[in-house]
Parts: sequence; C-alpha cells; structure tokens
Amino acid sequence: MTIQKTETKEIPIDKSLIAYCGLYCGACRAYRKGKCPGCQKNTKASWCKVRLCCIENNYLSCADCAKTELKACKKFNNPVSKIFALVFRSDRNACIARIKEVGYEVYAEEMAKNKMQTIKK
Ligand code: SF4
Ligand code: SF4
Repeated sequence: MTIQKTETKEIPIDKSLIAYCGLYCGACRAYRKGKCPGCQKNTKASWCKVRLCCIENNYLSCADCAKTELKACKKFNNPVSKIFALVFRSDRNACIARIKEVGYEVYAEEMAKNKMQTIKK
C-alpha cells in the first residue's frame, strides 16, 4: 500500500479501500479516524445488499457486474442509497463508471489525491 502525503492527514492509495458501490473509503472520515475498517472489511455492514451481492459474485465492485445495467439494478438503486446520495450529493453511478473507465488502481489514486470519498452530483 502506498501512502499519499497530504498537508493535514494521510489518504492511502489502496484499491482495497474502494467500496463495492464505488465510494472511496480511504478518504472517508470514519475510516481515517479508525472508526470503520472500510467497506470490504466491514462485516457489520451485512444489511447492505450491494455489498452482499458483490461478495456472492466475487466482484470487487459493481463495476465488475455484467448481469445488470446499473440503472436497472434495484439493489444498487435502493431507497436508502437514494437518501444517502441526496444528503452527501454522492454520485455512485459516476464512481462505478469511472472505475470501468480507468480501472481500480487509477481510480484509487485519483480519489486519494483529490481527497474524495465520492464523485459529487
Ligand atoms: S453502501 Fe454498501 S457497498 Fe457502499 S460503502 Fe456502504 S456498505 Fe459498502
Ligand atoms: S449492479 Fe446490482 S446485480 Fe450487479 S453487482 Fe451491483 S448490486 Fe449486484
């Protein structure tokens, strides 16, 4: 794992910190404070259907999914995620699209350098 030095805190560049839904846990406040291990290791997040689906299918994220168009996936577009998206202005569709475009390594690097947990709407 490479550490990206910042003025205030370190944001790790680590593709294992990319959440199954495309968020970047490495830049999340809870992760940086040691309160959350990140989506991949967070076994407490058993409520999350996106996480469960990706684990069952052995995907690193929904970017690996060939089954469903993202917009048509009811698990990805569940009511809770829509509320989160409104509150945090997160665009997980754009996150997944970016992962598909540049790959996991570059995506982790971009998000860490820009200190972004999500691509904003
Ligand atoms: S919504 Fe689900 S997949 Fe996304 S970060 Fe949270 S637990 Fe992980
Ligand atoms: S897009 Fe939907 S079906 Fe595909 S991995 Fe994500 S949650 Fe599962």
